[in-house]
Amino acid sequence: MDFNLTQEQQQIREEIRKVCKEFPDAYWRAIDGKKDYPEAFVRKLSDLGWLAALIPEEYGGTGLGITEASIILEEINHSGGVATACHAQMYTMGTLLRHGNDEQKKRYLPKIATGELRLQAFGVTEPDAGSESTRIQTAAIRKGDRYIVNGQKIFISRVLQSDLMLLLARTTPYNELKDKTRGLSVFIVDLKTNKSKIDVKPLDLMINHHTNALFLDNVEVPVENLIGEEGMGFRYIIDGWNAERILVAAEAVGDGRWFVERAAKYASERNVFGRPIGANQGVQFPIAKAYANIEAADLVRYQAATKFDRKEKCGAEANLAKYLASEAAWEAANACLTTHGGYGFATEYDVERKFRETRLLTIAPVSNNLVLAYLGQHVLGMPKSY
Ligand SMILES: Cc1cc2nc3c(=O)[nH]c(=O)nc-3n(C[C@H](O)[C@H](O)[C@H](O)COP(=O)(O)OP(=O)(O)OC[C@H]3O[C@@H](n4cnc5c(N)ncnc54)[C@H](O)[C@@H]3O)c2cc1C
Repeated sequence: MDFNLTQEQQQIREEIRKVCKEFPDAYWRAIDGKKDYPEAFVRKLSDLGWLAALIPEEYGGTGLGITEASIILEEINHSGGVATACHAQMYTMGTLLRHGNDEQKKRYLPKIATGELRLQAFGVTEPDAGSESTRIQTAAIRKGDRYIVNGQKIFISRVLQSDLMLLLARTTPYNELKDKTRGLSVFIVDLKTNKSKIDVKPLDLMINHHTNALFLDNVEVPVENLIGEEGMGFRYIIDGWNAERILVAAEAVGDGRWFVERAAKYASERNVFGRPIGANQGVQFPIAKAYANIEAADLVRYQAATKFDRKEKCGAEANLAKYLASEAAWEAANACLTTHGGYGFATEYDVERKFRETRLLTIAPVSNNLVLAYLGQHVLGMPKSY
């Protein structure tokens, strides 16, 4: 099913499929096995301009909408790859684009568009704050023409693969605030000039995600790298949530399609008890059910993306899409693994790798519990639950 895609959108899908064919299962399997970074893949996408989809043409990007950007990420996952390796290069700059000043945009966006500068790191989460981002403690204190930043972050991805990091830090102590969503600010941190001041400790995780704990020790950020107004950072971050949720939903749809296609193929080819295992409803129906849920989630994803591109309110649709697609992908992952029996655990089938990768989408960048809390409170009008 496709949601009345334009010819240009269909063409983008075909172009991405072509690029992804150059990076088959074996490429991703080897990267995963060695916990490498898919440098060649990310370089190729950058060189072709696909990661600059959301950067306006005046800054050297391709000026596409969220619908097109979501198709790009969907097809990466649909091909067997993992878009989380590069999706941040596409959308982290959104905060700069929406809230940065002209000088900042001219300084950074053209180089982000070409990939000369990588802005793939986004430092929000802290060990003692977790999902409650307004509780972060990393402090940025202004001293003359710079801010001095000290603190600790956890689960910050692709710091070692980035030149720049978008950082959320506290500029007013929590107990001095009336409105607890104020007092946080967003900065562009130059990771290269601050190399000796940021201790990056890679985390050993279930998936190959290049994620780290960070210890910031007198990191220096020039005042001209403050984005927007001091104290408004949390609001600026929230402004990017709908885009992120729509893009993650599309990645989940891509994963879901990969699982369903692999499962249906294997179920049709694998013979046990003298017939294809897919001839048994116990095998066939979970795959068909996962397919139904993926297709339904996809419609909501396009609904959200269309509203976003029309600049209409889309918080409800973006959250619904993220929730439905990530849960449907996880359902499809389980159906696919079960269908493959013991072979589902063999790395050469790629099912176990994709199974691990897609599970993340129910937890990060935002846990589905908090997505449900949004729906409960903001869409259904129930009391705040957190
Ligand atoms: C691989 C990976 C990459 C990541 N990359 C980044 C990154 O680049 N930058 C970054 O800033 N962060 C990143 N994160 C962090 C991620 O955004 C957080 O892990 C996530 O938001 C949840 O925070 P937490 O882990 O502290 O869980 P907690 O906040 O401790 O929550 C634990 C569980 O309790 C649930 N919970 C908590 N409060 C409530 C409530 N009131 N009601 C219902 N349920 C609740 C949560 O939903 C969750 O399921 C990454 C995480 C992972 C695993």
